[in-house]
Amino acid sequence: MGMLDLVTYPDPRLNAQSEPADPDEVRDLVGAMFETMYAEEGIGLAAVQVGRPLRVFITKVQDDRERVYINPEIVETSIEEDTAEEGCLSIPDVRADVTRPARVGVQATNLKGRTFRLNAQGLLARAIQHELDHLNGRLFIDHLDEREREALLADYAGSPRRER
Ligand code: ZN
Repeated sequence: MGMLDLVTYPDPRLNAQSEPADPDEVRDLVGAMFETMYAEEGIGLAAVQVGRPLRVFITKVQDDRERVYINPEIVETSIEEDTAEEGCLSIPDVRADVTRPARVGVQATNLKGRTFRLNAQGLLARAIQHELDHLNGRLFIDHLDEREREALLADYAGSPRRER
């Protein structure tokens, strides 16, 4: 499958609600997603970002291994929140501070079809929440207040990187 083209904002496909996935049918897709994510220097990628609206995302955060999440659900969130800067391969060159729960428990299926539960904190917890948002058609800029979002997108509209 090789490198995949990224879907970038404001493509309406990014607003889609992704559909449940079959672990047996996404192996090639997941391989190509890792290849694409590394080429673009990302730490997470959702299938919808490469035009496949399936409930699948991957992460590779520093000091952690490659992880694949199929049909993931966040089953626990901490009351404690954390604010840090985020970006997204689908919104090139746009970064903003986003506040999210500091820790999450996620349940998902892996490529072998086994269900697992992962408790994450720090950057991994942030990446999991960011990617899971993608499966529900939500982008990190949707967490910002309207004024901040408009200011960011005014810059984005003027960016030559928007040309595809
Ligand atoms: Zn993203």
